[in-house]
Amino acid sequence: MIEVVSRGAEIAREMIGIQRQIDLLQLEQSRLAAEFARTDHWSDEGSNSALDWIRFNCNVTEKVAGDRIAVGERANTIGASVKAMERGEIGFSHLAVMARTAIATGPRFEEARLLEVARKVSPGKFYYESLHYRHSVDAKGYAAEQVDLVENRHLWLSRGEDGGLLINGVLDPAGGAAVRTALEPLARRTRWDDARNLEKRYADALVELAAGGRPANLQITASVETVKGLAGAAGGEMEFSLPVSSTTVQRMACDCSVMRVLLDQESVVVDVGRSRRVISGPARRALQARDGHCQWPACERPASRCDGHHLVHWINGGNTELSNLILLCHRHHWLVHEGGWQLAKTHEGMVSIAPPHSWGGGGGAAGGAGPG
Ligand SMILES: [Zn+2]
Ligand SMILES: [Zn+2]
Repeated sequence: MIEVVSRGAEIAREMIGIQRQIDLLQLEQSRLAAEFARTDHWSDEGSNSALDWIRFNCNVTEKVAGDRIAVGERANTIGASVKAMERGEIGFSHLAVMARTAIATGPRFEEARLLEVARKVSPGKFYYESLHYRHSVDAKGYAAEQVDLVENRHLWLSRGEDGGLLINGVLDPAGGAAVRTALEPLARRTRWDDARNLEKRYADALVELAAGGRPANLQITASVETVKGLAGAAGGEMEFSLPVSSTTVQRMACDCSVMRVLLDQESVVVDVGRSRRVISGPARRALQARDGHCQWPACERPASRCDGHHLVHWINGGNTELSNLILLCHRHHWLVHEGGWQLAKTHEGMVSIAPPHSWGGGGGAAGGAGPG
């Protein structure tokens, strides 16, 4: 045990030492980058800017290349900070924030005041503090920058070859905060053994936000064979999507609010939304009042964000009586249909769950009891 600790301390020292060398090398490269920007070499080689040349030829991101040039160009303005970095009091990342702040605030820049902050906090926190500082010395300029950020907003949505949706974009700070505020509560773990990582929980949260809680205008077209999951049946069709599996169609058809069109054997369009299979307004209100939230053991997603799940699917003759319905959140509804989890309700109104046969781990998840 003692050996392990001392090896850890040894590695820690070594890592800090290496980082200081990296910092010094980055400073050296920054000075070169600024000098390089004043030459014509990058333009002679066909680059649009020195930054672009560095980005491409040094294999770094736009931010890294920009940091190098900014630090190199302002090395004299931030001389005290450069010395502090050489002494190991701050890192190169602090220096980059310092240089960019000097550029943004011009003659109002107060190095001493900021260096005091930089010595105390991490680079990430220092960046955050630098924004407050920029606002304090030049609120108008700061506001103009924010306007620029709004102008830069964009969202790319494209379909991947596998049918998935690729999302890529940038939102301005206020717009981004609004999205985060909506997503964060939905991205929390649903219970202690929720094994999804944060990225997966964000992805689920976005879908839940878009689809959950209210009858969506999502339109699915599928044959009865598909809804029944019979062998040989084609997939279901949804706008903006490649064909979806019959288990997915079953889940969406389960809470009929999202199911609009269904083809029967004679290819006659049946509007499920108008049929008796739909959980009617009064039945839905009664279901929400009885269950209150998702009925998966220990999940408390509110009723407004839940689907009505038929314990016996209507396609298999299940009815829309309250006794055959249960509230499930988007994720747990997915686990039952696509995920293959078994869900049963006891006579006492307790809900028990059992993992699919292929389930490798997560022992103890089965048989949990939920509030009735
Ligand atoms: Zn269901
Ligand atoms: Zn749930």
